[in-house]
Amino acid sequence: MPVLDIVGPLTARQPGRPPAASGSAALRKFGARPMPPLEWNAEVERDTAHLYARIQNVVPSVEWPFFAPYVRAINALKKERNAVILAHNYQTPEIYHCVADFVGDSLQHAREATKVKADVIVQAGVHFMAETAKILNPDKTVLIPDVRAGCSLAEAITGEDVRLLRERFPGVPVVTYVNTSAEVKAESDITCTSSNALQVVESLGVDKVIFVPDQYLAKYVASQTKVKIIAWKGSCEVHERFTGDELSLIRSNDPSVQIIAHPECPPDVIAASDFTGSTAHMIDWVRKNRPKRVVLVTECSMADNVAAELPDVEFTRPCNLCPHMKRITLPKILDSLLNMKEEVVVDPAIAEKARRAVERMIYMKS
Ligand code: SF4
Repeated sequence: MPVLDIVGPLTARQPGRPPAASGSAALRKFGARPMPPLEWNAEVERDTAHLYARIQNVVPSVEWPFFAPYVRAINALKKERNAVILAHNYQTPEIYHCVADFVGDSLQHAREATKVKADVIVQAGVHFMAETAKILNPDKTVLIPDVRAGCSLAEAITGEDVRLLRERFPGVPVVTYVNTSAEVKAESDITCTSSNALQVVESLGVDKVIFVPDQYLAKYVASQTKVKIIAWKGSCEVHERFTGDELSLIRSNDPSVQIIAHPECPPDVIAASDFTGSTAHMIDWVRKNRPKRVVLVTECSMADNVAAELPDVEFTRPCNLCPHMKRITLPKILDSLLNMKEEVVVDPAIAEKARRAVERMIYMKS
């Protein structure tokens, strides 16, 4: 059924407001390290050859001499700092395949963050992901290599907006997409990701929920359930740019192409697709079905990351770049580990309330 109502701020909010960073507590605790040599030589080539083999069909050999010294330095520093790197599926292949310890979507990151044994977590993703890691690991140091790595969905709603929604719809539980600030999660009953949104909505056993902040994910969930959905006017600036018309054109040029879309896309895009799912579900679908040609209607790096693993599948455009994810680079990850920045701090009172909403999702019975 269609969503019951879509509410939101009267004026659109601009994405990209830098989230607040803390001071230098992590630097005082761990100290700085000197910049290692970063030249390309035979030793670096030999030490990193096994890593280049993972991405050689998506990263030209002329680019590897730039990446390899950083890859080697980051991997050495991770051991020295007892650090792990969590990388989102939208990170570039040299990060995703060569320095990350855990890769995946937001749900996989949240689950992995509950098991981390390291002292330091570096989030190669955007700020709300780093906040979620901190919420689940209050005693660990969480770093984000560029504090300006935001998200248009996280910017679309505030904790105050959620409190006003509760006043307007008393008694209706709030399901919040993880692409939100800790403050918004703290005002919510439970979080969800694009992997489990339908399951979370139905787990509450109610006939109506407030679902924030992605209007398109809300519409997709509403199309799959009898639970009535009150949505918020937020959207992902990357996925809302796709159109059903561009996909129809691609299909008319090649009727055999498979089109796989993320549920943050508008309804006409989803209607033009063969399969809809989270980034993790999209990857699983391609691994299992091995189409000859496929369009992944999502952020561009994901196709590169899967193509590195599946050279027999041809990935075709369109795709859109996320400017926030692309702020994370190898030089910034190295700087983050050398100088322990930027440390992510969440107010303990907010973190405790937000943790309840996140853990309720993580430990939900399937
Ligand atoms: S792709 Fe969209 S939802 Fe993901 S971080 Fe970028 S703006 Fe946010």
